[in-house]
Amino acid sequence: MNLDARIPPGPLESKWETYQQRMKLVSPAARRKLDVLVVGSGLAGASAAASLAELGYRVTCLSFHDSPRRAHSIAAQGGINAAKNYPNDGDSVFRLFLDTIKGGDYRSREANVYRLAQLSSNIIDQCVAQGVPFAREYGGSLANRSFGGAQVSRTFYARGQTGQQLLLGAYQALQRQVGLGRLRMLTRHEMLDLVVVDGAARGIITRDLVTGAIARHAAHAVVLATGGYGNVFHLSTNAKSSNATAIWRAWRRGAAFANPCFTQIHPTCIPVSGAHQSKLTLMSESLRNDGRVWVPRMKGDPRPPDQIPEADRDYLLERLYPSYGNLVPRDVASRAAKVACDQGRGVGPGGYGVYLDFAEAIERLGARVMTDRYGNLFEMYQRITGADPTRVPMRIYPAVHYTMGGLWVDYALMSTIPGLFVLGEANFSDHGANRLGASALMQGLADGYFIIPQTVGDYLGSAKPAGAGVERAEFAAAEADVRERVARLLRIGGRQTVESFHRRLGQVMWDRCGMSRTAAGLREALQQIPALREEFWRDARVLGGDGEINQQLERAGRVADFLELAELMCRDALARDESCGGHFREEHQTAEGDARRDDARFSHVAVWEHAGPDAPPRRHVEPLVFQAVTPTRRSYT
Ligand SMILES: Cc1cc2nc3c(=O)[nH]c(=O)nc-3n(C[C@H](O)[C@H](O)[C@H](O)COP(=O)(O)OP(=O)(O)OC[C@H]3O[C@@H](n4cnc5c(N)ncnc54)[C@H](O)[C@@H]3O)c2cc1C
Repeated sequence: MNLDARIPPGPLESKWETYQQRMKLVSPAARRKLDVLVVGSGLAGASAAASLAELGYRVTCLSFHDSPRRAHSIAAQGGINAAKNYPNDGDSVFRLFLDTIKGGDYRSREANVYRLAQLSSNIIDQCVAQGVPFAREYGGSLANRSFGGAQVSRTFYARGQTGQQLLLGAYQALQRQVGLGRLRMLTRHEMLDLVVVDGAARGIITRDLVTGAIARHAAHAVVLATGGYGNVFHLSTNAKSSNATAIWRAWRRGAAFANPCFTQIHPTCIPVSGAHQSKLTLMSESLRNDGRVWVPRMKGDPRPPDQIPEADRDYLLERLYPSYGNLVPRDVASRAAKVACDQGRGVGPGGYGVYLDFAEAIERLGARVMTDRYGNLFEMYQRITGADPTRVPMRIYPAVHYTMGGLWVDYALMSTIPGLFVLGEANFSDHGANRLGASALMQGLADGYFIIPQTVGDYLGSAKPAGAGVERAEFAAAEADVRERVARLLRIGGRQTVESFHRRLGQVMWDRCGMSRTAAGLREALQQIPALREEFWRDARVLGGDGEINQQLERAGRVADFLELAELMCRDALARDESCGGHFREEHQTAEGDARRDDARFSHVAVWEHAGPDAPPRRHVEPLVFQAVTPTRRSYT
């Protein structure tokens, strides 16, 4: 398998410029004859589709949602990073690069991360030009706040609704192209397979979620921007419909999967309240700018928080990590909360919660300022829990939030299948073993607005792919596979709901491949998951037909894919016999309980290749070469 990342030569600072100087161009007249399919219209997909259409390509953008505005990106709360250094507190492109590489525990590619930091400022300029209403200071300049893993304030935000405002900007850009007739938007269409012709991506097969019609779509290049796969855990902060089907189908057609086990567990989520739940709610990391995390010093302290005096409280992050305090990265904060709860010092029902307390900030800044900053988050918390966080500390606990793993891509964001590009959370590119807060929006928009418009052109200009017609045998074969799979799901006729399988899978994954992992637990999961999959295909009950709106059928297909992906994640977690970032193998920890990397054996990207339906996947590695930074033990003390 060719894992050449095609990183341009020369110093880190000029690699992207070098790429752009050397890339092939496509003339405006030629662009009008080239088709590009963009699957996904979240921040990554909408920005890519709009930018490609603006360049003149014939773009079709597809989404299973009923509107691009419904993509999971709309849920993003806290902000987007950029190295503008407006607060004059010492930020720079290099510092953002450094924080991101270190935050990812030295398991990401230097060249990609540096480019991300370089492009970060352009994103803010682009979005401001679109009219995105970022928060401003009294004098009119854009406001910044801090996020975990940084000692500077570089996070731009629009209250607690940054994703929504950015998505409205990208959506306007998208709709403008629709209005100009350059872009065709197909909503409620789900990609169910990738079509590979002569070794290159040439199209997809979709199902119309309203009529059930199966259709073939051909193009000169295919772009996947289909989001992350955190819902493999059943309970996560992701939108309920987020799923892995597009990237999983592409994997089965030959696109390599990188670091599938790298999952981010976010420390500040509303704790699970019972078996009835189908999703979890995030309380943005921005709250840790002013909220202080604490637990009682005494195990099983029964007193309500307002009756526990300062002397009996343990502000654990401030104690353990004095330089960063409550703004340590997510993996570090999550682990500290887990350890305290495992020691019996957790709060709330079941003891799986820690306090996030705003009393000191309210005292210092006043309730009005706090409500201006976090009003919608406070309201959301109060609606869900019935408690007012301006009076009683929030109760929070870690939950699955983001997947750093994804389809492997080279520097041009192209997968191992020529002509197949992967953007946003769907790829593995920039975050290593732990993503810093406010960096996903930055990456998705850097990919969509700035990188893909160049690199797709470079591919089309140099490979000069001939258009494949949908009458090719490969399209017919892929369509037949999709029809058979849909029919097979409807044929099972078992007794158990798809939801019940998803819930059981999620429990296995949370227990064995969640916040902490062991070789023994992962081996057990590798027995349990295939058994659950076999039971699913024998006893799942999928009602309704295939010629109508059928959400059970949609979910069944997605859960069937999760049941395969989960196994790959556990294989990857078992093979990576070290701890790094969010991948915490209990066997490898420091005396203080922090992750202990093994750079000699694992300073690489683990890349998995599908080897056929009945063979185990093959593991390859892309070595990580560090020139600008020296991997050291990650310390936030
Ligand atoms: C609650 C929450 C808050 C967050 N807050 C922040 C934050 O403050 N800052 C930050 O940087 N990050 C944040 N994140 C992470 C960030 O929101 C996501 O990583 C990012 O929005 C993903 O964007 P995307 O475009 O890659 O995918 P998505 O927004 O998930 O979009 C995926 C698109 O693909 C389509 N799609 C998927 N599969 C198919 C298919 N098979 N066929 C057709 N269409 C398909 C969907 O319809 C959708 O349009 C947050 C995440 C959560 C869960």
